[in-house]
Amino acid sequence: MPLVSMRQVLDEAAKGGYGVGAFNVNNMEQIQSIMEAARETQSPVIVQASRGARAYSQDRFLYHLMIAATELYPEIPTVLHLDHGNSPETCKSAIDMGFTSVMMDGSLMPDGKTPSTFEYNVEVTKKVVEMAHAKGVTVEGEIGCLGGIEDGHGSGGSGLDHLTDPAQAEEFVKLTGLDALAIAIGTSHGAYKFAKQPSGDTLKMETLIAIHKRLPNTHLVMHGSSSVPKDLQDIINQYGGKLKPTWGVPVEEIQLGIKNGVRKINVDTDNRLAITGAIRKVFMEKPEEFDPRSYMKPAREAMKKVVALRMTQFGQAGHAKDYTPIPLAEMAKKYEAVAV
Ligand SMILES: [Zn+2]
Repeated sequence: MPLVSMRQVLDEAAKGGYGVGAFNVNNMEQIQSIMEAARETQSPVIVQASRGARAYSQDRFLYHLMIAATELYPEIPTVLHLDHGNSPETCKSAIDMGFTSVMMDGSLMPDGKTPSTFEYNVEVTKKVVEMAHAKGVTVEGEIGCLGGIEDGHGSGGSGLDHLTDPAQAEEFVKLTGLDALAIAIGTSHGAYKFAKQPSGDTLKMETLIAIHKRLPNTHLVMHGSSSVPKDLQDIINQYGGKLKPTWGVPVEEIQLGIKNGVRKINVDTDNRLAITGAIRKVFMEKPEEFDPRSYMKPAREAMKKVVALRMTQFGQAGHAKDYTPIPLAEMAKKYEAVAV
């Protein structure tokens, strides 16, 4: 099965009332972990790469690893998505390389740090929608700014600094015609999302519900949605790590989001924690080991376990064979028909 468009995967998720995890990758082992978890749980899957990941993997390595994934796991509908594109040019380079979905994050200026104006955001997002839809490629936009910084991207502030305004979100979708909308409801990128278990004061689920009421047919995206479970933190600290206590987004809150229009859930930190914990354990317990496979194999297994669990919790498990992929050229025709 070739790489599929994210729009189709999210449309199917909306029909089935479930969410789809979007997992970040930088290397072969992370891709293998996700694809194995997808096979084990029979899940459609979104694999995403940030600008940092594309640079780290020299872009072409990443692309060809993903082609290998489609060859080795032909039964799994697999999306290759650009996470936080900072400009139309970045999105174009991803589309040219074969990404089937791109995020144009116009909530920030091209420096990836400075919050932008609404007008700027509409302008760049619309531009990417026109360019991407002509090729059948999906577009995610963002309104409001997430907290924190990851891979050098982010406004750096608290997740509460630039929350999404529901009325503005509605206007934004109308003006841009995008497929999926990332919203800011108090979450942040990175491991340190909340200083204690989040409550309604710090995680604004009522904002999400208000947005869904205005945009019942728009696929909503939760960024910064690792749950940062204590057991994964504990393994790292037990084997010599020094993580400070931290809280992520509880899975029950994500499930509430899924009941209210959330179709894509971005998870990165949990996988990073799982990998690092597994590697630290081998290093501490077997200091004589020096074959990278001796720690990469348990790392891969640890990440696979977390991904498979999230796939089950988000409800995408069991849905890999529900539908036949629509070729991108056909998606392009569908967009064209709607636009006329
Ligand atoms: Zn994000």
